[in-house]
Amino acid sequence: MLRSKMLINGELVDSISGRIEIIYNPADQEPVAEVSTGSRDDARLALQSAQKAFSAWSSTHSNWRAEILHEAAGLVRRRTDEIATLLTQEQGKPLKDARKEILASADVLDYYAEEGKRNFGEWIPASSRNSRSLVIKQPVGVAAIITPWNLPVDLMAWKVGPALASGCTVVAKPPNLAPLAATAFIQAINDAGALPGAVNVVHGPGSEVGAELVENSISRKIAFTGETATGRWIMEHAALHIKRISLELGGQSPLIVCRDASIDKAADACVQRAFFNMGQLCISINRIYVAEEVADEFISKLVDRTIRLKVGNGLEPGVDLGPMFSHDQRQKTKEHIADAIQKGAKILCGGHEPEGKEYERGFFFLPTVLVDVDHSMRVMREETFGPVAPIMRFKTLDDAIDLANDTEYGLASYIFTNDLTTAIQAAEKLEAGGIGINVNNVAELQAPFGGWKQSGFGRELGHYGLEEYLEIKHIRFGF
Ligand code: NAD
Repeated sequence: MLRSKMLINGELVDSISGRIEIIYNPADQEPVAEVSTGSRDDARLALQSAQKAFSAWSSTHSNWRAEILHEAAGLVRRRTDEIATLLTQEQGKPLKDARKEILASADVLDYYAEEGKRNFGEWIPASSRNSRSLVIKQPVGVAAIITPWNLPVDLMAWKVGPALASGCTVVAKPPNLAPLAATAFIQAINDAGALPGAVNVVHGPGSEVGAELVENSISRKIAFTGETATGRWIMEHAALHIKRISLELGGQSPLIVCRDASIDKAADACVQRAFFNMGQLCISINRIYVAEEVADEFISKLVDRTIRLKVGNGLEPGVDLGPMFSHDQRQKTKEHIADAIQKGAKILCGGHEPEGKEYERGFFFLPTVLVDVDHSMRVMREETFGPVAPIMRFKTLDDAIDLANDTEYGLASYIFTNDLTTAIQAAEKLEAGGIGINVNNVAELQAPFGGWKQSGFGRELGHYGLEEYLEIKHIRFGF
């Protein structure tokens, strides 16, 4: 069986304790690989390795770091089939989606290879004739990168790319239940010629390995994607050393469908963004508000598209939706649906596991459309992180915007309308870091991505992503 090791100081190593954990396929619960699992001691070794490498790596020219990152992007592309298969086996998503994730992650490395060259400073006119002010930006130091299981490679790339391009060295901690593809991705950066220790990977539970990365004084920056509760813990503990942190946390994203919208386009967008990755996406469409004039048409088109989605083992061709990641994720989804039904919601499709022998051992679930929902229900208030599309009708746009903003989260909001005034007003009033108008995705490589409210702070992607790994230095000259 494959053994996924940790990467410390340029070497693939087992954990100090020799502890091994098995990764199981959520489609059939068969073992996929062994993982060498570390503890606080391994995390310390990885941090020391990154600290030792920092001086050399940060002194290299950005053009040279760009060459390494481009080379790594090429290696990732050449290894796409191998890494994507690992991703499907450990996480469940269909192979076609896994391949897209790997290729998108290679694009991120290429993008930051070039963005790292545009680490511009400023020459500022001073308030006296005989002084000048120069501003430069320098790498923060060792960056600890902690990521979740839902997009384990992409979300790693969003952080590792800008960190290395800016001159930081990295200790990455992939999710402990899905570390295989992310580790293989980072291995490619090491194979591309990164200096030993510039990029390290340590496996293990968040409460041990993740906690050490946060609490140890060596890391100067924590880049985290995961649950809001974990982000809150990290914020508290990073306070001990006043570390730079960026937190990409949970979401509860609304979609507003206006009466002037193209209903076919809205239904296509919704079925994709509500159920892609089995709804296990921070920017999934979680709550749908439809103008009452077009609600019947939208609902019937959404249900029609939903029941055509093929659920199955992600390695089989033609599958649209794989299993959910874990028993716990599926259980939470069922509990949210049961809560909604008990409070008066109706299921139009889905709401249970698919039937058949091929589904018996996996964490499969049918994509579910709910109507007659309201904001007393958990599906409308909490992050379900499952394939559920709950729909409410609205009378006026102001009502819809109030409902959309009635959440502690603020990652993404979507609106479908063909009216420019409506689009502008809604975009300005919706409380989220990303607003999608007639699109179902607010993640764009060249533009900032991040949350408002309890969805976190800090920005990834675009030139904003690089800034997260840079310190500002003012140099004042007198003469
Ligand atoms: P999680 O918070 O349980 O785990 C994320 C990572 O943090 C894992 O690597 C875990 O091992 C580690 N961790 C756990 N406890 C830790 C601790 N005390 N100290 C340091 N590290 C610790 O999240 P998850 O269940 O893996 O992922 C799902 C969550 O991620 C959802 O809430 C989802 O919305 C969120 N998410 C957010 C974004 C975004 O960009 N905002 C993107 C994807 C996922």
